[in-house]
Amino acid sequence: MDSKELISEIKRLKNEKNALILAHNYVKGEIQDLADYVGDSLGLSRKSAETDNELIVFCAVHFMAETASVLAKRRQRILCPDLNAGCSLSETITGSQLKEWKKEHPDAIVVSYVNTSAEVKAESDYCCTSGNALNVVRSIPEDKDILFLPDMFLGAWVQEVTGRKMHIWPGECHVHASLPPERIQDLMKVHSDADFLIHPECGCSTSCMYLGSVGKLEKKPHILSTAGMVKHAEKSNAETFVVATETGILHPLKKSLPKKEFIPASDSMVCQYMKMVTLEKLYLSLRDEKHEVKVEEPLKSKAKKAIVRMLDIDG
Ligand code: SF4
Repeated sequence: MDSKELISEIKRLKNEKNALILAHNYVKGEIQDLADYVGDSLGLSRKSAETDNELIVFCAVHFMAETASVLAKRRQRILCPDLNAGCSLSETITGSQLKEWKKEHPDAIVVSYVNTSAEVKAESDYCCTSGNALNVVRSIPEDKDILFLPDMFLGAWVQEVTGRKMHIWPGECHVHASLPPERIQDLMKVHSDADFLIHPECGCSTSCMYLGSVGKLEKKPHILSTAGMVKHAEKSNAETFVVATETGILHPLKKSLPKKEFIPASDSMVCQYMKMVTLEKLYLSLRDEKHEVKVEEPLKSKAKKAIVRMLDIDG
């Protein structure tokens, strides 16, 4: 089948099976165009928790489909078109490593970014996303130690903004860590009228905040989650935006604001895992209802606690 036929078959099967297609901002544009909802990990977690559809096809990486399975109602089934779509960041810490770390800080509160396996979530007190990490950390009493994992750049940014000292796991995402602050400094000289949108997982985000505060940047960058980037671009008067995160985000930005210009901070910020979801894999997964991701009890209930606490804080 060619792309046109695949798209029409996916639409037909989706209606026939009353399936919900969810897609992350980083997956291929053609997949985003077929989705009922496109968003960041927080938005996707919320949608999967709210919906009554019994079949959800989660077009993103494996740990995100796991999160949906943890939040799923009793009869819902979560499919992930490619079970090999991993995440270099979530793989930096396992459940056993977290157990060992907790032994070193027995009274600490564990805050885990959602880019973690269900095993790690089950050992955590709270989950967070880049969109709500500040609120989650601020909600924890001042006298408590915090173990923040697994992203060291997000952790450093949260620490900088909240002023809260935390123990931070030295994990990183290979895509975001590849962007040095010097690249942003150079781009600011070339695109002096543009707004700079930087994801807090970027290696440059905390350095950029520091450089901005000591007057070493031409302008202050906006440190935003992917959903925050879309909202910011919609209300900003700027005509041009330099975007520092996985390049898939350019698709929804260009689609919703065709008159504005979006420039990637680096063309090489491409996550090969997110791009593993193709039209053919989506079609086959939906047709055969295969590649189900299912988190079993007691892991499910333990992991759910940390996710629900995050959703409660974020309102
Ligand atoms: S961009 Fe990085 S954090 Fe996001 S899924 Fe890919 S490897 Fe994981």
